[in-house]
Amino acid sequence: MDPITIVIKAGREKPIRQRHPWVFSGAIERTEGRAENGAIATIAGSDGKFLARGYYNRHSQITGRILTWDETEAIDDAFWRRRLERAIALRKNIAGDACRLVYSESDGLPGLVVDRYGPWLVMQALTLGIDRNKKRIAEWLIELSGARGVFERSDVEVRRKEGLEPATGVLAGEAPPDRIEIRESALDGRPLSFEVDVRAGHKTGFYLDQRANRCAVARWCAGLDVLNVFSYTGAFGVHAQAAGAGRVTNIDSSADALAQARRHWKLNGFDANSAEFIEADAFHTLRRFREEGRRFDLIILDPPRLAATAGQVDRAARAYKDLNMVALQILNPGGLLATFSCSGHISADLFQKIVFGAAIDAGRGACIIERFTQGPDHPVALTFPEAEYLKGLLCRTD
Ligand code: SAH
Repeated sequence: MDPITIVIKAGREKPIRQRHPWVFSGAIERTEGRAENGAIATIAGSDGKFLARGYYNRHSQITGRILTWDETEAIDDAFWRRRLERAIALRKNIAGDACRLVYSESDGLPGLVVDRYGPWLVMQALTLGIDRNKKRIAEWLIELSGARGVFERSDVEVRRKEGLEPATGVLAGEAPPDRIEIRESALDGRPLSFEVDVRAGHKTGFYLDQRANRCAVARWCAGLDVLNVFSYTGAFGVHAQAAGAGRVTNIDSSADALAQARRHWKLNGFDANSAEFIEADAFHTLRRFREEGRRFDLIILDPPRLAATAGQVDRAARAYKDLNMVALQILNPGGLLATFSCSGHISADLFQKIVFGAAIDAGRGACIIERFTQGPDHPVALTFPEAEYLKGLLCRTD
């Protein structure tokens, strides 16, 4: 018997039966038992019959997060270990020494994100149900993956919705070094090196979701003058350089990210003075380039998430359109635009429409020659399409 039973309103059971893992507060008829936040709950239909089992937090609009639809499956130590083991096993064919090891709902572990950087793991506990178990999870992760240590980077806004403060620090095992060196294969298979700052870097330290796309874009870069906008630590640019790009210009608003980008140039045997590193606002700098008549052959646009909520979609759509319009205007004839959006609330379809609008306003004809999404270590359960957030287009202009 679970300590809590959540009874779902009549007519609101269907998504749960179809294995959507979220129970919204508005779908709950009543809660029975000792309703302690973070505890395990049975989710029952309006007829009282078992639907699923998950953890409970009335502080959040997503009051229940489902862990299993199998009535006989208890949420005990063996459960957590089984799920972690499965997530790790599913990544065994993913090449390289860095990847996302656990991706929340897609791995049947809502609220838990784990990224692997060489022998170190970085964990985000996004919900109370995970936060309560994070120490044990970290220890099991070490045992199951052979990692040397687990560092927590739960310094994310979404935790507030769960009534949690940000949290960072070593959770289990040894403390990682300030910079962890990882490898990513270049286009020709040669290893490229990157340093990940798991303490102060963005997210868990690196944009693992773009790994395959960096190679895919690099394939087009030989001999081209490349502009890498929103470069972060320059990963797209290093791949472009390794693929024989002419000059690479990186723009980012973060001085720390650009300092690391310079180190990445040197670390991979390239002359940092042959590239450009511009610390500035990207929207402003692209306009300045347009006014100055500065042109490029290939532009990468990988902005931060511009729509964090459904309510921000319209404003974000205008910003994406503006950015893409100016980028198209500063491309040489026949130039290529690799453009991305990591806003989950902007669908691939809407994004394509936005880029279409940008091309119309820019007065440039363009064809889609490739489409991009997040890597295979960021899977999307068919029952949980919300897990898909990254989309991108490679467009060739006339
Ligand atoms: N392409 C990168 C990831 C980009 S993440 C990679 O593959 O690693 C988005 C980046 O945009 C962050 O580094 C952030 O510092 C930067 N950024 C956010 N707002 C910006 C702005 N207005 N102008 C320039 N850079 C910005």
